[in-house]
Amino acid sequence: MTTPPPESPPFPDSLCHRCAAPPRYVQSRTTTFILCPLLPQKYPPQPVRGCALFKPRAPDAPPPPR
Ligand code: SF4
Repeated sequence: MTTPPPESPPFPDSLCHRCAAPPRYVQSRTTTFILCPLLPQKYPPQPVRGCALFKPRAPDAPPPPR
């Protein structure tokens, strides 16, 4: 299931949370995965601290898709 960012996102210091990609949040029964729509492997090792595809998300950008 894909959801908006959870209130307590996993790896809160990950670049993905501030990325314009935007990432999606895939929730299992036990954890939340961060899905990148740009990378072929989809689930980059977290936390992402550097990424060639990172672009900062505009402060007024709509929330990530459900
Ligand atoms: S492009 Fe990089 S920083 Fe942005 S969501 Fe994907 S992995 Fe994260």
